[in-house]
Parts: sequence; C-alpha cells; structure tokens
Amino acid sequence: MGYFSKVKAVEMPRDVVAGHGVIEDVRGMCERLHFRGAGTIITGGRTAEVAGKRVMDIMDGYDLDMCRVGDATQENVDLICRRARESGSSFILAVGGGSKIDLAKVVSNELHLPFVAIPTSASHDGIASNRASLKSAEGSRSIESASPMGVLADTEIISQAPYRLLASGCADVISNLTAIMDWDFARRLKGESFSRTAYSLSKHAAEEILDASSLIKPGVEDSVWIAIKPIIMSGVSMSFAGSSRPTSGAEHMFSHMLDLRCPGRALHGEQCGVGSIMTMYLHGGDWEHIRDALAEIGAPTTAKELGIPAEEIVYSLAHATEIRKDRFTILGDNGITEEVAERVATVTGVI
Ligand SMILES: [Zn+2]
Repeated sequence: MGYFSKVKAVEMPRDVVAGHGVIEDVRGMCERLHFRGAGTIITGGRTAEVAGKRVMDIMDGYDLDMCRVGDATQENVDLICRRARESGSSFILAVGGGSKIDLAKVVSNELHLPFVAIPTSASHDGIASNRASLKSAEGSRSIESASPMGVLADTEIISQAPYRLLASGCADVISNLTAIMDWDFARRLKGESFSRTAYSLSKHAAEEILDASSLIKPGVEDSVWIAIKPIIMSGVSMSFAGSSRPTSGAEHMFSHMLDLRCPGRALHGEQCGVGSIMTMYLHGGDWEHIRDALAEIGAPTTAKELGIPAEEIVYSLAHATEIRKDRFTILGDNGITEEVAERVATVTGVI
C-alpha cells in the first residue's frame, strides 16, 4: 500500500468587511492585519477621486505612495513593483475596479507583500480570488497570483459606479451555473479532479443572484449589498478548487474568444452571461431561467445588446475551444460546427 500523499491548500481573505461606509474601516483593517510603515496605493484616475484620496486621508500617519495607473498590463505591474521597492512598501492597498485589483494581485505575488482589495465597482467575480487577468496584445491571460488578505467593499462607493458594471458582475456569477455543469461533465467523462466544496459554493453564489434578480436594480445601494456577497463567494470557490474551474467553463471560453475578435465592445460578465444562455441550452438545462434573470437585472441577453455582430457570436461559440484545449466542456474537445452554433444562438434568441 502506498503512503498517503494528498495535500490541499486553500488561500483566501481573512478579513472581509462589506456595507455602507465601511471605507472608514480601512485603518482598522490595516491594524488588524498588522500593516505598518510604508505602503503603496494602486488606484486609477477616476477611482483616486472616488475613493483613493479618501483612503489617503483616513490612513494619515502611514507613509503611502499613491500609484495611479491604467490597465492591468505587465508594464504597469513592472512600474508599480519599481515604485513599491523604491518606497520600501510593506503592504499594498488596491483601490479601484477589476484592473487595479488584478494589478495588486500580481504585484503582491511578485514582491511577497500582503494587500487589501477596496473595490470601487464589482464588474466580475475576481475580487477575492487568487487569479488575475493581465492584458496584452495577444488578448488577456489569466495567471495565478495572490489573494487579498482583506476585502473592504463599501456599498455606498460601489453603488456610485455605473450600474452596468454591477449587472455585469451579477451576470458573471450567474454564468457559474454552466461552468459547474461543464466541470461535472469533465469529471464524469474525463475523470477530472473535482471539489464538492468549490462546486457547492459556486452554485450557491449563482443561485443567490438568481433568487434576488428582481431586487437588483440601478440606483439602489441595496442591490450592491445583495450582490456583493455572492460576487465575493464566487471568487472564494476558485480558491477552494485551486483553479478557475468552478466559475469558468465554455461560456468563459466564448467570452475570451469575443475579447480577441471584438475587443472592447462588451464587458466580461456580460459576454459570459450570454454565453451561459447558449451553453445551458447545449446542456439541456433551464436556459430560459438564466435569460430571464439576466434580463431582470438589466444585463444583455442578445448579440444586439452586447453590441456584437451575430456572425461573431456564432464564430466565437463554434471556435471557443481554441481558447484552451485543456478545459473540457460541453463543447467537447474540438468544439461545435458553425452550423450548430448558429442554431443554438438562434433558438435561444441570442441572434
Ligand atoms: Zn468571469
């Protein structure tokens, strides 16, 4: 008999605070996490105004370097790393949307520094995960990096961001429903390793959004309150799985293909939501439920609402498996034909 050699490591935030006005707790969180001395704030032009400067004020007495950057690119990672080394930073605060948090994850991993995520919007479910997506000329790539030590999600601040971002974050979580079906499919057909805990967390997050879809509306801070826990929990499910598997199946590969074919047209979560309608149809599941929940929240359900031509939807669904060959989904090893993709998109009303 062989020796028992299994190991499981789960990395996740240890301090999560969400709610109205919780930005005021940033100093308390830094103290609880024993952050001392110099630190770097990663923020953007607009997010510095919305929250970055406020954080600077509240953290008076700490030696903070405010680093205003744009997209999550390797160039910006290098820039922040240089600045953080120069200032002798021992911690990082990411104040902004997805790209600033992605930058913090990568920098934190490279410099071995802890960081706190202070989202100013919630357009996808990566806030609390340890995976970051970096943009380059060849599209975006998802890399393993560091999870935040703490998450401070101020619903008042997030509710001031364009509502479209929150709707996209909700759609990203709803798309877990097909991601987990793809995972189960790969478990059954390919013997892929599986985590019941991650599966259940991801499913539960999606169902919380589905059940509350009629309450998630523009201009209501309560909507952020309802959505933020599932959005964070969805990210935590990735930590349990040790990969993005529980939240990313064929609908995500479809979205990544759209990013390559029609960059900048629609948001990640919006594309994944529409992808999920179609891959749920392929799974033979309740795709109408997904479509109706997305519509209720105000997320796109059609090519037109995404602002993407019908033929690009068909192409991206048919060729989605080219994004990554190692992730087995309902699209099989080699994808589906454009003829089948067109039929799926037509029957589900996407095109
Ligand atoms: Zn996603």
